[in-house]
Amino acid sequence: MPPEAQSPPAGLTAAEAEARLASEGFNELATTKRRSPLRIVLDVLKEPMLVLLLVGGVVYLLLGSQAEALILLAFACMSIGITAVQEARTSRVLEALRDLSSPRALVIRDGTRLRIAGRDLVRGDLIVLSEGDRVPADALLIESTELSADESLLTGEAEAVRKKVGSGEADVRPGGHDLPQVFSGTLIVRGSALAQVTAIGSESEIGKIGKSLSQIEPETPHLQSQMRRLVIATAGIGVGVSAVVVALYGLLRGGWLDAVLAGIAVGMAMLPEEFPMVLAVFMAMGAWRISKARVLTRRASAIETLGSASVLCTDKTGTLTENRMTITALQLADGTAHQIAGGVAVPPAFRELAATGVMASAPEPFDPMEAAFHVLAADDLREGETLPGAGRTLIRSYPLSPDLLAMSQVWQAEDGFAIAAKGAPEAIADLCKLEPDQRAVITSQLDAMAAKGLRVLAVAEASWPSGQDLPETQTKFTFRLLGLVGLADPLRASVPAAVAECQAAGIRIIMITGDHPVTARAIAAEAGLPGDVALTGDDLSAMSEDDLATAVTTVTIFARILPEQKLSIVNALKAEGAVVAMTGDGVNDAPSLKAADIGVAMGERGTDVAREAASIVLLDDDFGSIVTTVRLGRRIYDNLRKAMSFILAVHVPIAGLALMPLLFGMPLLFGPVHIAFLEMVIDPVCALVFEAEEEEDGVMRRPPRPADEPLFSWPTVVWSLLQGLIVLGAAGSAAWFAPGFGLDADQVRGLAFATLVFGVVALILIDRSNSNSVLTALLRPNKALAVVLPIVAVLLATTLFWAPARDLFGFGVLEGVWLAVPPLAGISVLLALEALKPLWRMVLRANERPAGPRVKGEAA
Ligand code: ADP
Ligand code: MG
Repeated sequence: MPPEAQSPPAGLTAAEAEARLASEGFNELATTKRRSPLRIVLDVLKEPMLVLLLVGGVVYLLLGSQAEALILLAFACMSIGITAVQEARTSRVLEALRDLSSPRALVIRDGTRLRIAGRDLVRGDLIVLSEGDRVPADALLIESTELSADESLLTGEAEAVRKKVGSGEADVRPGGHDLPQVFSGTLIVRGSALAQVTAIGSESEIGKIGKSLSQIEPETPHLQSQMRRLVIATAGIGVGVSAVVVALYGLLRGGWLDAVLAGIAVGMAMLPEEFPMVLAVFMAMGAWRISKARVLTRRASAIETLGSASVLCTDKTGTLTENRMTITALQLADGTAHQIAGGVAVPPAFRELAATGVMASAPEPFDPMEAAFHVLAADDLREGETLPGAGRTLIRSYPLSPDLLAMSQVWQAEDGFAIAAKGAPEAIADLCKLEPDQRAVITSQLDAMAAKGLRVLAVAEASWPSGQDLPETQTKFTFRLLGLVGLADPLRASVPAAVAECQAAGIRIIMITGDHPVTARAIAAEAGLPGDVALTGDDLSAMSEDDLATAVTTVTIFARILPEQKLSIVNALKAEGAVVAMTGDGVNDAPSLKAADIGVAMGERGTDVAREAASIVLLDDDFGSIVTTVRLGRRIYDNLRKAMSFILAVHVPIAGLALMPLLFGMPLLFGPVHIAFLEMVIDPVCALVFEAEEEEDGVMRRPPRPADEPLFSWPTVVWSLLQGLIVLGAAGSAAWFAPGFGLDADQVRGLAFATLVFGVVALILIDRSNSNSVLTALLRPNKALAVVLPIVAVLLATTLFWAPARDLFGFGVLEGVWLAVPPLAGISVLLALEALKPLWRMVLRANERPAGPRVKGEAA
């Protein structure tokens, strides 16, 4: 760096940037193409359900029943419409989330640093790059310190390359050391830099090769595969049964066109086409709901996994605490202590300690600890004084490293160099080469401060003659200890409640921190975390794998942990059968975030690398949001199951009533029109009711579900089928006995249909809640239900009482006491199922397996 003080570069002005944005466009790559409306319609037309509808329409036309054909056509259009709207909504939600999780860029415009969305960058912008950033555009370095980048995305070369300021030649390809260019999409793995954007969007190297960094993975592997198996199985049965129906009908009754219609009705009744639709809706809506809690989902499957998390590993600083550091205690090397109360000047004896702390911090601090040093010094300035370091030249910094938690800065002094260091007390003690007895004194002072939950740093100073070259490492200086500084970082207000909630929900919380064990323990106690054994990184590295496996089942506090060690903690927990959520923010956290079942990255503090490795991102870094997300995850999973059992159940009576006349030689009850009405209107709409369902009362008071628990366990399937059979029983007996009372075929059809619709409503009410009674569920508000029930009522009334619709559906006029049959049947179904519910719950409980990590000593 040149010795004369430079004025910091100002970058583009806001107006220039805006003009360029307008003329050159956004810094973005052609994203994965959106499906055009036509494409969506074509895709929907491939659905077997639609094919059935259309074939049905054609057959009706052949039979000369134009009205029926039109209705089927209308249903087909409606279905295409619903699907297209649903699709558009889903992709809009996913896109909005993608924008939020896309890389941000730190630019300098009008002389100030701004964090903007990467897509708003323009050519000529000055950007600040630091470790962990994804480079937002191609750029030429202006200043850099120890910069290396991982360009594997462009070159396939795994090793990071060194970067160096220099004159940029045009048309340089990525790869190789000491280039002055950085390339969009590559990662800064070390150092920091100031660079000027040279190419954006499709002009950048990555744009030229047309790769895109896709962000959100829409699939949910586990659920999706379960779903696929289910759909294939039911579809197989459906096709088989339909074929048999067509054959039987054609052979026994004659009239092959009618036979095809009957077959189509049965096929439509049995096709489980709602399952994938419901899954997609739930996942997109889930991501959206979670985003309202300021949490981004980068993998839809994270929601599914979250509900089953049994261990939550969290860091301390910034997640459990606010990461707002204030210096509250000073202590000199000789033991003289001073508590800082707001506004009171620091006594003269402590001023050197405070000033050296500032000199050991970056001149424009980002780090909250360093900011705290600046604040303390600024509060304490007398008339006409400037901050320590102001007007002096910073010559060099020695950064913090995992093996030495201390950093020093070298400043130009009148006669040579002045060096200021701060860091973990152990590290500073090493730098000062303290004798064992001096160390013991420091340790006891440190313990007293840390026990109050303070983060303790030690500060030291050294000097270096001007003639000599500066050493390669900071250990070569002869440091003199000045004292200790205690920094308070308040616990986030939401933490104790969130911790208690996790405990009730059977989720273990483990704190992993780089801080001192005594500080860690004090904060853990404040947060309400049980246990006061703290394992340190040194303990950990001395442990065998078996010891670690035992330790992770009991220890809740890990202190002075290196980021790399998080990985062994995750792996040990996973080996014990736990489903692990792990938080992280740094470059070194990426492997453990990937290894964890749910990687949780920080939106504010976090680096791009950590965000990309994680499956969810906390936008406000708050531990409380993780718990909110777990809660939501459990609710979404519960609701998904409810919707699935409802859909399974509802197919039983629909299919049963379609088959019944054929099996018992009765006049046909339902044709494609009726089935289409049930399947296309009532069914999908009901899925929304389940999506909107509030959480079960005890969601956070039950243990996490076992990770390998299938969506459909046998008891659930049996329960669903039983529900369906009871509704079939009600509607079937209405159809069976009514002719005996003199009702004609059309009246029977209307009666059976109305009874079925009431039965379906009863199923919704039953499946809304599995832990409560219907009564409590009824009192629980559900906006979707409040909309759906009236709609169903109006539609049913229309088909029964409005002559043209009644004729279309082939219903006869129902009068008097017959009108009471459907509601009564609905209520009976409700009561019967309500009475059976406790029984089913007993079966479920008997089938339950304990979740979470096994504790050694328990039956293996
Ligand atoms: P945490 O896991 O609590 O976020 P860190 O890994 O950030 O902890 O820091 C670990 C330790 O490294 C701190 O307790 C402190 O002793 C030291 N340290 C961190 N940042 C700095 C800094 N900017 N200057 C000096 N020491 C630091
Ligand atoms: Mg940290």
